[in-house]
Amino acid sequence: MSGDWIYLDYAATTPVDPRVLEAMQEHLAIDGRFANPSALHPAGRSSAAAVQKAAEAVAQLVNCDPGRLIWTSGATESNNLAIQGVARARSHHGKHLVTMPTEHKAVTDVYKALEADGFELSWLAPEATGVLDPAALEAVLRPDTQLVSIMYVNNETGVVQDVASLGRICREHDVAFHVDAAQAVGKLNVDIAALNADLVSISAHKLYGPSGIGALYVRKRVGLNPDPLMFGGAQQGRLRPGTLAVHLIAGFGAAAMLARESLVDDFAHVKALRDRLWQGIRSTPGLTLNGDLASGYPGILNVSAEGLDGESLLLALEPLCVSTGSACNSQSQEPSAVLRALGVPDEQAESAIRFSFGRMTTEAEIDAAAELYGQAVRSLRALMPEAA
Ligand SMILES: *Cc1c(COP(=O)(O)O)cnc(C)c1O
Repeated sequence: MSGDWIYLDYAATTPVDPRVLEAMQEHLAIDGRFANPSALHPAGRSSAAAVQKAAEAVAQLVNCDPGRLIWTSGATESNNLAIQGVARARSHHGKHLVTMPTEHKAVTDVYKALEADGFELSWLAPEATGVLDPAALEAVLRPDTQLVSIMYVNNETGVVQDVASLGRICREHDVAFHVDAAQAVGKLNVDIAALNADLVSISAHKLYGPSGIGALYVRKRVGLNPDPLMFGGAQQGRLRPGTLAVHLIAGFGAAAMLARESLVDDFAHVKALRDRLWQGIRSTPGLTLNGDLASGYPGILNVSAEGLDGESLLLALEPLCVSTGSACNSQSQEPSAVLRALGVPDEQAESAIRFSFGRMTTEAEIDAAAELYGQAVRSLRALMPEAA
């Protein structure tokens, strides 16, 4: 526990592991390897070697060729580069693009922007479980379909998609397949070689690395080169120009190495905590689980409390730090589009709270959270005239 709050919002951002911070500190000051990795002098070459080492660590974590990773500012940029880049590069072949309403806004908003630019979209609805039936994907593909984008683990519910099967269908139909794996990498055993994915988005600050750095994996394949979003230099094959942020990349690499070592332990840890939290709150009247305990990623628990409003609940839960859905939705009062697509009624979606846990979460924090949640639900219900 940090003292001032209880942090259960790991799906929004994770704290940096102290060992990651140490790796980053080597790349900032005059006594470190801070130089521009594009420079040909010894200091530059030393930075370039650090970047290469980080690429190898990230590549090992996801089983891909390190040479196929493009550094970006995070998964938002990776998604934009993948989706806009491939859609624009392939637009002379066709303008039909496929995704789901349960995607992160860093996918859905890019799709909507492309629609405004003349692309045609198909939105695939999930089953009630949140999972997409591969047959539904196959049914929507057309000769002019260029790109399918489906996330690996959902950031609000923890729902896990069968990306390998979806990728196989895309491969058979010669359609590019992008996977937003921001919530999966470092948490599940993500094996890009087995996924049939052409483009994969990764973010360091979801796996105990720093924010502001991510990567896009781009498979080497004819006709798959995305158009760049930016121009201004020869870095990264001109696909993403700009001076590389060596300290952030080194932090990302260190985080990837740690994630690989602790993947199994981290998973068992969050699963035990998730089960403990659910045991601790499940007897509260009028609760509904959004998502599926058996098949979902256990680092996320999404719960609705009948009749309550998420914003009020969030305030009543202080000093507990949880989310009312996706952090990116917290500015708007709209019920979550993700829960809506799962068929969750609006009244139930409005009271949804996302608890998310990670490597640093303790049992004491979970017990305190369960206590706070039960109290908050009871006290808010006591204020409602129609409450039992
Ligand atoms: C966090 C997240 C993003 C955005 O990543 P940033 O690195 O913060 O830009 C995109 N997609 C999913 C699924 C996420 O969880």
